[in-house]
Amino acid sequence: MSETIEHVKCLIIGSGPAGYTAAIYAARADMSPVLYTGLQPGGQLTITNDVENYPGYPEGIQGPAMMEDFKKQAERFGTDVRFGLATAVDFQNGKHKVTIDNKTEITADSVIISTGASAKWLGLESEQRLNGFGVSACAVCDGFFYKGQEVAIVGAGDTAAEEATYLAKLCKKVTMIVRRDEMRASKVMQHRVESTENIEILWNSETVEVLGEKGVEGVRVKNNQTGEETDIPVTGFFVAIGHKPNTDIFKGQLDMDNTGYLQVKPGSSKTNIEGVFACGDAADKVYRQAVTAAGTGCMAALDAERYLSAKGLH
Ligand code: NDP
Repeated sequence: MSETIEHVKCLIIGSGPAGYTAAIYAARADMSPVLYTGLQPGGQLTITNDVENYPGYPEGIQGPAMMEDFKKQAERFGTDVRFGLATAVDFQNGKHKVTIDNKTEITADSVIISTGASAKWLGLESEQRLNGFGVSACAVCDGFFYKGQEVAIVGAGDTAAEEATYLAKLCKKVTMIVRRDEMRASKVMQHRVESTENIEILWNSETVEVLGEKGVEGVRVKNNQTGEETDIPVTGFFVAIGHKPNTDIFKGQLDMDNTGYLQVKPGSSKTNIEGVFACGDAADKVYRQAVTAAGTGCMAALDAERYLSAKGLH
């Protein structure tokens, strides 16, 4: 049985750069934010090693350390950071009710959603074991570490095509592993890939295993027409088979596109429900960077503050 235990002015769901930035702004505006971290406190950056593209860290910083700093900064101004997962919401008929861990119900004057997205993985044991040790789901984050080296990337959508061309500028050679005999990517991106000299496309190919003990040394690929297996020596293995926004609990409550990304009014963080705001990767399938997530987190807090003021709630 669930019971309503408290009402808060500003509830933030998610603890990546978007959530913590929203918390910093909301706390400094005296909105007494309560932030629930979700199951992966700190979000996707906690599974990255060096972050070198976040402004303000000239020497770079480890992803987990950066997120710890975000959290400390949010707490310094009074954010109540709690470990817990939002498992259901009810935004119907003017309500802003959120259930945490299937048992605790909280109501809020304003809700900021920053639940992020999760990279999709192939599901191989070796891929998981070498994650962060040569296996990455973000070329923009990690490509630099493979400068002058040979890498492989799996996927054939716009992300894979874009990341393959990005990697080709840094790396000696990029092998693109495509499971069918055609790509899903837009024609212009396909053309770009095909006309890049140091990208080799392996059609009808599936990844059987990522090779290496302590770091990536190669990838075993199977041609799904001939059954032939080939080992390709690479030091980096990039997975670009799509992301999934963590928005399942908002289905039927908030407007989203057909892939689950929350839709906000252009130039704002406003969802279709008054008082509910969305930021970060949960509402962004294009940029997906820590700095853009932080930027939209700031927008969400400012939008929430203005909403509360207009309603006479703040
Ligand atoms: P997509 O879902 O479009 O593509 C995923 C790709 O990964 C597909 O080619 C799919 O193969 C492949 N794939 C999926 N699972 C596996 C698997 N287990 N093994 C091997 N391959 C697999 O995701 P994207 O991230 O590329 O794009 C998401 C959306 O964002 C799209 O709408 C895209 O257009 C958009 N986008 C736009 C950009 C831009 O405009 N600049 C940049 C990046 C993304 P298959 O084709 O066989 O199903």
